[in-house]
Amino acid sequence: MGDTEKKVKLIDSDGRRNDGRMPHELRPVKIEAGVLHRADGSAYVEWGGNKVLAAVYGPREAHPRHLQKPTRALVQCRYNMAPFSVSDRKRPGPDRRSNEISKVISEAFSSVIFLEQFPRTSVDVYMEVLQAEAGTRCAAITAASVAIADAGVPMRDLVVGCASGKVGGVVCLDLNKDEDNFGEADVPMAVVPRTGEIVLLQMDGHLKPEEFDQAMAYSLKAAEQINELQKDALRRRYSVSLDEFRAVQPPAPEPEEEPKYDVYHEDQPGVVE
Ligand code: UDP
Repeated sequence: MGDTEKKVKLIDSDGRRNDGRMPHELRPVKIEAGVLHRADGSAYVEWGGNKVLAAVYGPREAHPRHLQKPTRALVQCRYNMAPFSVSDRKRPGPDRRSNEISKVISEAFSSVIFLEQFPRTSVDVYMEVLQAEAGTRCAAITAASVAIADAGVPMRDLVVGCASGKVGGVVCLDLNKDEDNFGEADVPMAVVPRTGEIVLLQMDGHLKPEEFDQAMAYSLKAAEQINELQKDALRRRYSVSLDEFRAVQPPAPEPEEEPKYDVYHEDQPGVVE
């Protein structure tokens, strides 16, 4: 921000952004459920240049044991960026940023999962950012939510992550890397689409109240679109094509042989079959 921001042109004369999008447009999003066989649930999300894998285990006995809650489950999230996910190698292991993101994502999921049904257990959610291009926490929440559903963990609804911000004085949906670096503000959030409840809200930079309202309106609308992609990924994972259905069906039993009776033909009294 500051001097550099002035040198980078983020919005051109016809209102388009540096990747050709209009302010209200999302980057392309692709979601796939059930991509890992060892985890109880998993999902993979590509969102613009972001690539994120999520794996879920549980509810299973919580470890370390002293963290167990006698009346409910814990949600333990780990957001991690691979060293090769960014242009400068990222030092492996947790840091202040990833600890913070893991914490706020745990809190977001704690408010939708039916925790009281699973006392003393933990739902463990791992999010691995394989490639980062701004908006990784939103992509990670979106992937984790599909992975939790894939694991069959009961929750009130899927959770969708989405961000909006301000770039070159214009409120824009879903900032890309340059916009995140050189823009004026970024507001990532997570929403429960069925109720419109906000379960995560952060803000980097400054917005006027009316700009904040516009940013929220963009993100809430986009969340509906992303939620459809999440549901579609789960449907694809659990719907079976007719060929697959036939392949897993046991072979149809051989028809039983008809018992043989003598048939007397009245019109041909001498003929018995
Ligand atoms: N980033 C990076 N190195 C880091 C952390 C972040 O290059 O150690 C990049 C990465 O592309 C990330 C972007 O900066 O997506 C924005 O990071 P931010 O902390 O705003 O989180 P995000 O937008 O990814 O949720």
